[in-house]
Amino acid sequence: MYPRSFHYHRARSLDEAVAMLGQLGSSAKVLAGGQSLIPLLKLRFANPEHLVDLNFIPDTSFIEEDSTALHFGAMTRHGEIERSALTKTIPVLHDCAAGIADVQVRNRGTIGGSLAEADPSGDWANALVTLDTTVHCLGHGGARSLPLKDFITDAYTTVLAPDELVTEVEVKIPHKGSGGAYVAFKRSAPVYPSASAAVQLTLAGDVCQDAAIALGCVGLTAIRATEAETALRGKTLNGDGNDKTIASAAEAARAAADPQPDMRGSAEYKRELVVALVKRAIQIAIRRARGERVEGVHLYA
Ligand SMILES: Cc1cc2nc3c(=O)[nH]c(=O)nc-3n(C[C@H](O)[C@H](O)[C@H](O)COP(=O)(O)OP(=O)(O)OC[C@H]3O[C@@H](n4cnc5c(N)ncnc54)[C@H](O)[C@@H]3O)c2cc1C
Repeated sequence: MYPRSFHYHRARSLDEAVAMLGQLGSSAKVLAGGQSLIPLLKLRFANPEHLVDLNFIPDTSFIEEDSTALHFGAMTRHGEIERSALTKTIPVLHDCAAGIADVQVRNRGTIGGSLAEADPSGDWANALVTLDTTVHCLGHGGARSLPLKDFITDAYTTVLAPDELVTEVEVKIPHKGSGGAYVAFKRSAPVYPSASAAVQLTLAGDVCQDAAIALGCVGLTAIRATEAETALRGKTLNGDGNDKTIASAAEAARAAADPQPDMRGSAEYKRELVVALVKRAIQIAIRRARGERVEGVHLYA
């Protein structure tokens, strides 16, 4: 189906895009990679009168490092993040980017668009919430920055005002001795995951100093599995398949999941997936925290 007709506006700067959104009001939508918006337009689930295109604004796609953080321009494509050597220093980011859909989607879809869309099945929010992530925004009232945990408030819902843009995503570089993994289970490459788990651990020797665990596709937003994190903190982790501490953290994650049955499986099946994914993500995170290189972590049916 073709989208309903709309007026197309090409913004030349972020300020101009914000001004356009202010003038056009709630009948306008921003176009980034179009990988969520264009299908919705074609299905006529979204029928904006105006589209403000961000794709021709200079300097909105970048990956930069300073002494404490990596900075991603909102228009940075998933594929650019996947291929970036800088991103490989925080493996959760590379895992996430490399597992999103297929090459076509990764070459168009953007990190800013993904967070703004706040799709409960989207990968970025779940992976980034285990890291110290800040979302930088620009609107009519000026610039503001929020922790990611305060940016997404519900399924498909963020704190963005109608005339406000995501401009940058900032991720603090984890401390030495910290390792992470983002593992998704997918029925095939070009589809969203059935469930996913993100883990970031800090080890001192074999003792877990700190842990962040998040679950994706099993709630309206990414779920922080705080009981599972508590089950790991202060404990010795050997990281093998018989590690009882890891098993109890995975069981705590099962209890935290709140999945809905759908075409990807029953609620019970998704809870089972969560247990397996959390175990696997913890084991990979431990190996990475010890300095080992582990690649290709996703599971495909
Ligand atoms: C076949 C297919 C499979 C996919 N599989 C996956 C998957 O496995 N995992 C996954 O995470 N995603 C998946 N996606 C979605 C993809 O990652 C999208 O790129 C992402 O959800 C949205 O990013 P976008 O840049 O395409 O945004 P768009 O589609 O252009 O925009 C999405 C929404 O965000 C708003 N928006 C965009 N950018 C900004 C901004 N800078 N500031 C404020 N608002 C903004 C738009 O107005 C719109 O409402 C898939 C998409 C397709 C088509």
